[in-house]
Amino acid sequence: WTILGIESSCDDTSAALLRCAPGGARPAPLAEVTADQQAAHAAFGGVVPEIAARAHAEKLDTCVAGAVAQAGLTFADLDGIAVTAGPGLIGGVIAGVMCAKGLAAGTGLPLVGVNHLAGHALSPQLSDDVPFPYLVLLVSGGHCQFLIVHGPDRFTRLGGTIDDAPGEAFDKVARLLGLPQPGGPAVEAAARDGDPTRFAFPRPLTDRAGCDMSFSGLKTAVLRARDALVAEQGGLWRADRADLCAGFQAAMRDVLATKARRALEACAARGVDVRAFAVAGGVAANRAIRAALQEAAAGTGCAFAAPPLRYCTDNATMIAYAGSFRLMKGDRDGMDLGARPRWPLDATSPAMLGSGK
Ligand code: ATP
Ligand code: FE
Repeated sequence: WTILGIESSCDDTSAALLRCAPGGARPAPLAEVTADQQAAHAAFGGVVPEIAARAHAEKLDTCVAGAVAQAGLTFADLDGIAVTAGPGLIGGVIAGVMCAKGLAAGTGLPLVGVNHLAGHALSPQLSDDVPFPYLVLLVSGGHCQFLIVHGPDRFTRLGGTIDDAPGEAFDKVARLLGLPQPGGPAVEAAARDGDPTRFAFPRPLTDRAGCDMSFSGLKTAVLRARDALVAEQGGLWRADRADLCAGFQAAMRDVLATKARRALEACAARGVDVRAFAVAGGVAANRAIRAALQEAAAGTGCAFAAPPLRYCTDNATMIAYAGSFRLMKGDRDGMDLGARPRWPLDATSPAMLGSGK
């Protein structure tokens, strides 16, 4: 099966071709073309939904044609189309779904709508040996949750953030300190020469059972510490910035690692024998966080997988993969496939039922 994947739920327009076979063999990525929109949003300090939707609509054709050409194939060589049908910024999701429907109508290829979060949750299998059931932590600019992945269409949400996502917190902290966007890499670089113990930042909710997390208080604590320094010395020295970043990153790392241990315990308590713990999402690029999560997994004798960054951030290869299971079973969505701004991923919502019926 050669599957075209299409992703446009946030600020990356991506198309990919993936070759899959039924029975669990690792799929082979054939091509991927992604257009980011960073330049279009740069002046606004964040993603502007209207601009994003328009940019997706403009770039989708080029990305799809580019991916097909890069693989040295034509549409006649494809066997199915998988498109992100939510959750995400609705204008972008609609642009992707419309493009996919047009292609399906024009070529007669079967079409399935994919939950973007299912794409992230399944992405570790693209590069690593993570058999079902496994535990995954999605940790990105928009999400933070622990999921048990029982199979390609069955997920149990163990808990997640009740306010900001960690990537969002990294981005806000970078903004507070005058560092460039995206904030994650900038804060990580600044933290390298910092003293993580100078500021006693909170580790919210770690004293509470369960896997829920909170990061907005942590961000506010950084803001207060910055303001206190500015009031006292009239500005920030380079060393202050480094210490603030190091303290923030250490708090983030501790919260994620503590909750990862709780999530692994929760799997055992539910009688689910997870053999691997994988991270997905842009924040998984952070070395300090990765190392702490790896240690948490090692503590329970569980294998740890941190996929390469190209599979961690938004990409169409993971969408093709998540859609491949339904396509290969002969399931498909009709021309009534809808776009869903919200689409929780857990046992109570059919994970990849694109039409939402
Ligand atoms: P979503 O996938 O949830 O829709 P998104 O597209 O914003 O959200 P990703 O592309 O997966 O998320 O990740 C981007 C986020 O990851 C940004 O917030 C960025 O700051 C953060 N990030 C990237 N590199 C690092 C790093 N080294 N340390 C911490 N955070 C990082
Ligand atoms: Fe994403």
